[in-house]
Amino acid sequence: NGQAASKPDQSAQLVLVEGPVLGGGAFSRVSICTEESSGRAYAMKRMRKSGVVQCPEHVFCEQAITRNTAHPFCIRQYASFQDKYHLYFLFDLMPGGDLMDVLVAEAKVIKRRIAQGAWRRACFAPKVKMLKGMEEKLAQFYIGSIVLALEYLHDNDIVYRDLKPENIFIDSVGFVKLGDFGFAKVLENANRTYTFCGTPGYVAPENVLAHGYNYSVDWWGLGVLLYVLLTGRQPFSSPKTDDPMIVMRRIVDENWQIKYPPYLSPAAKDLVSRLLERKPARRLGMLSGRANDIKRHRWFDGFDWDGVITR
Ligand code: ADP
Ligand code: MG
Repeated sequence: NGQAASKPDQSAQLVLVEGPVLGGGAFSRVSICTEESSGRAYAMKRMRKSGVVQCPEHVFCEQAITRNTAHPFCIRQYASFQDKYHLYFLFDLMPGGDLMDVLVAEAKVIKRRIAQGAWRRACFAPKVKMLKGMEEKLAQFYIGSIVLALEYLHDNDIVYRDLKPENIFIDSVGFVKLGDFGFAKVLENANRTYTFCGTPGYVAPENVLAHGYNYSVDWWGLGVLLYVLLTGRQPFSSPKTDDPMIVMRRIVDENWQIKYPPYLSPAAKDLVSRLLERKPARRLGMLSGRANDIKRHRWFDGFDWDGVITR
């Protein structure tokens, strides 16, 4: 690790105690890990080097970007190290699961209405009946946090590229952080990028068409995410039609109309449709006001943009 090499500090040695496993994929395992001296808990991601060599860019991007991000709604990396067979990364521990868990959580009615300012109590480990998606006030809290995270990333020339409920994690008090930066990329000199990547139901038309794209794909992703949180379904697929090729054909087809369920508020419908604008230049977030146009949209009326970040 280059950083450690430039600052040789023997006293900074970490002693870590590994705890229960939280999850994992084909080449990775994530477990709770506690620093012995401070008692501070982290999520430790261990990746097999033999797996990493098949797709090193994703790991390098996640490593380089999360090491430098410093925003309350982005998962941060605190250390990285290796042994003969594995790479290890220490991340913020997010014990509350992800937003997909919230969407599929067992039915339990929210008793208290979410009053402005009472985010912490109201959003603690929410378990909501998600037959039609979540309450708009709760979605406003989650989406608002993600707008701030994306604004920060874009200001730092980073395009995130993989917005979806599975990549938004919940901390011990109910706040969310964007995680899984495997597809994130630094765009040098405000350049365009061409690589097709993301998740089929969430990719922007300019990404599918390989016309070259930049931050616009994240605001499209935000529109899909908002629709998913509010309805429990994806805008371009249905249980009957989840073939990725059909879904992506719908995404680029100007004539294919998104269906809005009747229970959506007019403001929510308007915000989704402005984010799911197929022409990147006309999309909310890409106009002159940039992210501020989204923050000022009437769906966010009453949302405390400063309060949520200074908590
Ligand atoms: P992969 O790149 O293999 O998909 P992820 O980074 O998505 O690995 O992590 C796999 C699983 O580990 C996640 O689905 C989640 O359950 C758990 N996990 C990952 N990061 C954290 C974290 N920071 N805090 C808590 N759990 C986490
Ligand atoms: Mg993952």
